[in-house]
Amino acid sequence: MKKHNFSAGPAILPQSVMQEAAQACIEFNGMGMSILEISHRSKQYDAVVAEAESLVREIGGFDDRFAVLFLGGGASTQFALAPMNLLKDGEKAGYVDTGVWANKAIKEAKLFGNVEVLASSKDSNYTFIPKGYDIPSDAAYLHLTSNNTIYGTQLHEFPKSPVPIVCDMSSDMFSRPFDAEQFGLIYAGAQKNIGPAGVTVVIVRKDLLGRSGRKLPSMFDYSIHSDNGSMYNTPPVFPLYVTMLTLRWLKAEGGLTAIQKRNEEKAAILYNEIDTNPLFKGTVAVEDRSLMNVCFLPTNPEHEEPFMAAAKAAGIDGIKGHRSVGGFRASIYNAMPQSSVQVLVDVMREFAMQNG
Ligand SMILES: *Cc1c(COP(=O)(O)O)cnc(C)c1O
Repeated sequence: MKKHNFSAGPAILPQSVMQEAAQACIEFNGMGMSILEISHRSKQYDAVVAEAESLVREIGGFDDRFAVLFLGGGASTQFALAPMNLLKDGEKAGYVDTGVWANKAIKEAKLFGNVEVLASSKDSNYTFIPKGYDIPSDAAYLHLTSNNTIYGTQLHEFPKSPVPIVCDMSSDMFSRPFDAEQFGLIYAGAQKNIGPAGVTVVIVRKDLLGRSGRKLPSMFDYSIHSDNGSMYNTPPVFPLYVTMLTLRWLKAEGGLTAIQKRNEEKAAILYNEIDTNPLFKGTVAVEDRSLMNVCFLPTNPEHEEPFMAAAKAAGIDGIKGHRSVGGFRASIYNAMPQSSVQVLVDVMREFAMQNG
């Protein structure tokens, strides 16, 4: 039986994308070879990278002032590459501490310059998004995490910033429209919402390339990747292909406005159940709730195991909460059908009837 996959990442992808990707592993594009065994410099693969780039530009509204890169190493590598490329020695950058991923970004940035933590919700175990903090205009950039995968909080409005925003969008990239203009750099590990693990999408304003003035190894230098169209070395060939297919799917579904509407509807169904079912409660400030990762606890801790078992019996997978929050986390990324969310809600109702 096909499971309802609520995993936080690697996560659900559209079924049609996986079918096409599986076929390409056997034979790609009538070439008589698998996509896994062709040259990354073949004209057929060139077309894949070109289409992926043009889809990112079209879906996200990035004109040619931005470079669009597809790199290896995950979002975690970008925690270091962002300051390495953008932050000068002795200069400061503003970071907002919204949890584990933000902290990892802060740790790496400290290797390259001065980090000023402008705000933090650590004291409340990251149950809300700090707002209304001052952003120093002499900072090189402001670093934000748009969606906090572990805690289920999401930035619903980006602050007005006097300096370029650098944003880790790993878990909500292309889940909603946004204004490209305010960003200097966006990075996202693909495996949460836009593809499989192995490729990281990096979008950087070209005028910021080389900003740090630092001598960098080639593979760590955004300029080199930009000058070489993400082909300085062998790119993550297959993950990038699957990401291209997922972006094609997203465009065909109507792009960001359509997907946002769908994501809002799915999240509303689940949060409504959490708020009305006496056996469950949400974990974060209502106004900061994530549309991607929905975290909730049983009101009675003894219900945790039996509810897990009931969910499992209904074919639900991946809802165990992160250890730092506990309870449950249902990740409902772009590819998650509303029907699967409804299955989860039905199990919650049934569970309340039997145990309430
Ligand atoms: C998963 C995640 C990361 C880490 O991504 P990797 O690709 O595993 O390095 C970073 N930031 C956020 C917000 C994430 O959800």
